[in-house]
Amino acid sequence: MNAAIRTTCPYCGVGCGVLAAPDGQGGMTISGDADHPANRGRLCVKGAALGETIGTKGRLTAPRVNGDEVAWDKALEMIATRFTQTIADHGPESVALYVSGQLLTEDYYVANKLMKGFIGSANIDTNSRLCMASSVAGHRRAFGSDTVPGLYEDLELADVVVLVGSNLAWCHPVLHQRLLAAKAARGTKIIVIDPRRTATCEGADLHLAIAPGADAHLFNLLLCHLADEDRLDQDFLPHVTGLAEALQAARQSTADSTGLSPDDLRRFLALWSGHERVVTVYSQGINQSDSGTDKVNAILNCHLATGRIGRPGTGPFSVTGQPNAMGGREVGGLANMLACHLDLENPDHRTAVQTFWRSPRMADKPGLKAIDLFRAVEDRRIRALWILHTNPAVSMPEADRVARAIAACDFVAVSDIWPDTDTARLAHVLLPATAWGEKDGTVTNSERMISRQRAFMPAPGQARPDWWQLAQVAQRMGFAGFDWSGPQDIFAEYVALSGVAGALGSDFDISGLAGSDYGAMEPVRWPVATKSGGRFFGDGAFHTPDGRGRMVPVAARLPSALGAETSLRLNTGRIRDQWHTMTRTGMAARLMQHLGEPYLEIHPSDALRLGLGDATLAEVFNPLGRAILRVLKSEAVQPGHPFAPMHWTGQTASSGRIDALVPGLCDPVSGQPASKSAEVTIRPY
Ligand code: SF4
Repeated sequence: MNAAIRTTCPYCGVGCGVLAAPDGQGGMTISGDADHPANRGRLCVKGAALGETIGTKGRLTAPRVNGDEVAWDKALEMIATRFTQTIADHGPESVALYVSGQLLTEDYYVANKLMKGFIGSANIDTNSRLCMASSVAGHRRAFGSDTVPGLYEDLELADVVVLVGSNLAWCHPVLHQRLLAAKAARGTKIIVIDPRRTATCEGADLHLAIAPGADAHLFNLLLCHLADEDRLDQDFLPHVTGLAEALQAARQSTADSTGLSPDDLRRFLALWSGHERVVTVYSQGINQSDSGTDKVNAILNCHLATGRIGRPGTGPFSVTGQPNAMGGREVGGLANMLACHLDLENPDHRTAVQTFWRSPRMADKPGLKAIDLFRAVEDRRIRALWILHTNPAVSMPEADRVARAIAACDFVAVSDIWPDTDTARLAHVLLPATAWGEKDGTVTNSERMISRQRAFMPAPGQARPDWWQLAQVAQRMGFAGFDWSGPQDIFAEYVALSGVAGALGSDFDISGLAGSDYGAMEPVRWPVATKSGGRFFGDGAFHTPDGRGRMVPVAARLPSALGAETSLRLNTGRIRDQWHTMTRTGMAARLMQHLGEPYLEIHPSDALRLGLGDATLAEVFNPLGRAILRVLKSEAVQPGHPFAPMHWTGQTASSGRIDALVPGLCDPVSGQPASKSAEVTIRPY
């Protein structure tokens, strides 16, 4: 057995430390890293099974052009030539990158630098748009920056933890284990707000089966209750603006809209307002909505008005889905952000970054967000597209439409580890990427902790890291400043840029890491040097122009009415043992034992009305697509609101590919799609 390598789990945003010990025969022993602050040795079932999901069988091992294996030079030259020619013919807005929260920060940095600083367009967006863009937008409206105020340990220090729109037990299992351990030790009250009774409810003191989409109404009612019961923090309020306007808007919300019993509502209000240490954790149930940003701000309003922010055991807490969604946000991987939390629409910020990069041009307006980006591919405003580490032909809302758009695009390059994903099959140029365990870099978890992912096995064939692919194409396009020798150089450049950002007032300043030993780097949470214990805003200093936190008036609204009486509103989400489109977790037999096929969780009254027996097949369809799913009758879902997991893929309806049915309806502020609300018809199959 070789010495264990310290690395980070490639799945969810908890960002657990992993010890990987190669056995010298191609196998691997995986265990939790007891010295990593995020998990302290724990792993969930997905992390524990990592050793069963690595291997080179079926991997893409050489570049391909139109299906034929070619030398790297030819493939890279073709991407550079096609991008250069497209820009010459149609301008910089005619090309785009679509990237992923699975990328390492160094990959993200290079992609962002190439697109915004050298091509001069902000048409780079990420699949993280689908998971947490509403949190980013809500943070920026309230705090003036995309800052997560608190830490994981706040869930352990709180007296009340509210989990809203979050199935933490399945989607962030180790963080949930930490919360349950704290509850056992000190009696933390746990409240789950979710239309569905999920596994997370099992450890909760109170489950509020709220009407789907009514979260902003509930937090508006809470704000009114806090004001009426004289529970606002008069010492903190001078640090906050907008209370009167937020309250005025909140008073339009009614208890009826929440669908909750008066008793449940009373208990919630009493628990939240009656305890000083309250953390409100939220996730996709809040973000994936056509009013997701308003929902986020309704939550933030309550914490701002009571000063329950930035102090131990308090705060709103957005937990991210992917391992490096946070790193992508920090590095500017979203179409509407610059690097290091700088503002793309601020000329001083643009000039500072352009000067630092010594770049010939700089994007000066936000680029297209994910849904709009693929619409632009569809109508040929975008004619050259490079997709890295994600499978939008399956995972985007309106997936069939997206797949058709990619198939018709003039030029598509795809970087992936597999040759046969639904998106890879549509590529003109297919580049073999390195996988977890083969690549080096950093990721940031949901509590702002930067950790190393380390290589511990050789890459198969000619697979190369994404940063290298991007840098090679940039150089072939004639751009200077892309000649790093490894990820350590990219990280050093990023650290230096963060110092420039810090001087401009950005919260993201990790310049204290300059000169540190990248190879031996320990997990480190930013801000790097701090007197606040690593929390933000407890001192009342925000990143807005006047330094005060902003309460936002939220006119809460429910999802729009369904178009037909016979329709149902389909909710989608993750299951415990699978990750994204199962390209990795699908390889582990034990992970398939939990829930082994696509299913439709439907209330017995709906099943009876529709003639669906338990374990029979249902056809779920709308004008966008069709899926055949196994029926699972359950009172955990509400009548009219069935649930289906998002993981299964494939070309046929029987494969259970559910994102084909999700409409491209987005939150107007964040551009995040409403993936939990697809109008569908269901009948026996
Ligand atoms: Fe990996 Fe998340 Fe599980 Fe931790 S909780 S082991 S990061 S999937």
